Amino acid sequence: MEQSTLTVVMYHYVRTAPRNPFPALKSMDTDAFVQQVTDLATRYEMATMDSTLAFLEGEYHPRRPLCLLTFDDGVQDHYREVGPVLAERGIQGLFFLVTGCMEEGVVAAVHKNHFLTAGLGFPEWRRRFFRRARTCGLAMPVVDPGAAARTYPWDTAKVAEFKYAFNFELPAIERDAIVDELFIEEFGDESAFARQLYLSWEEARQMQCDGMVLGGHTHRHQPLASLNAAELRSDLNECRRILDLRLRPQPFTPFSYPYGKRDSFTGEAVRRLRELNFCCAFSTEVGRNQAGSDRYALQRVDCKQAA
Ligand SMILES: [Zn+2]
Repeated sequence: MEQSTLTVVMYHYVRTAPRNPFPALKSMDTDAFVQQVTDLATRYEMATMDSTLAFLEGEYHPRRPLCLLTFDDGVQDHYREVGPVLAERGIQGLFFLVTGCMEEGVVAAVHKNHFLTAGLGFPEWRRRFFRRARTCGLAMPVVDPGAAARTYPWDTAKVAEFKYAFNFELPAIERDAIVDELFIEEFGDESAFARQLYLSWEEARQMQCDGMVLGGHTHRHQPLASLNAAELRSDLNECRRILDLRLRPQPFTPFSYPYGKRDSFTGEAVRRLRELNFCCAFSTEVGRNQAGSDRYALQRVDCKQAA
């Protein structure tokens, strides 16, 4: 008998085009999402947190392959567009929150990059970033094009190389000083933008009442491998503390690594997640999972590949 698999699909922005004030933002249209969920539900048994963990432990043998839906970054789309579609069909989604963004009204650098790209157009955004970096004496790193393409397979080479430099290579403090200034110039008050972009805690709790499971996606959305031991501890502790404080109690709380490729997290990060009682962690390495797969390096497929 063929061994059963668990396919975990990963989503970010899901929006209805006419209601999206950023038409250039890379997102999945809500209609396409509904169609995809309908298709997946005919081909797979839709998994829950419980059935996923039982399957990975080898205690649950589904007759059809399992499919689990996961949503990163805790954006409002998940409350407005995704939650109702899943609740109506009795499907459980896992939603990963960036606690600092919700708690402190901060827009994560990775999202500032998305919205500046969508708002200004990529060439103009890059030009402005480079110009400001030059004035500040910040040298742009030379990026390995292979690493950039592997991390951002859905972007053009230029966009992938910029994102790679932006998210992994540039020193975070200097980068953020530049991007914060440009972001405020373009979009005004950051905390007002954050309130519109991310879920509120009230909305997150409502999603739990509708059967969804919420999890951690760090406090600051930095690549965990880039943090020193004290920073790693403090970020993950804070993420867990705020989830416990703000959410309804859940039997299991999962985690998703920001960026999520194998080199974006460390053994130390996994040890810390276990200590903090996160039940499993999802990477962005592409693949399907089987009984016995490492629960702290679960693989996923992007929604663009799941059709
Ligand atoms: Zn993320």
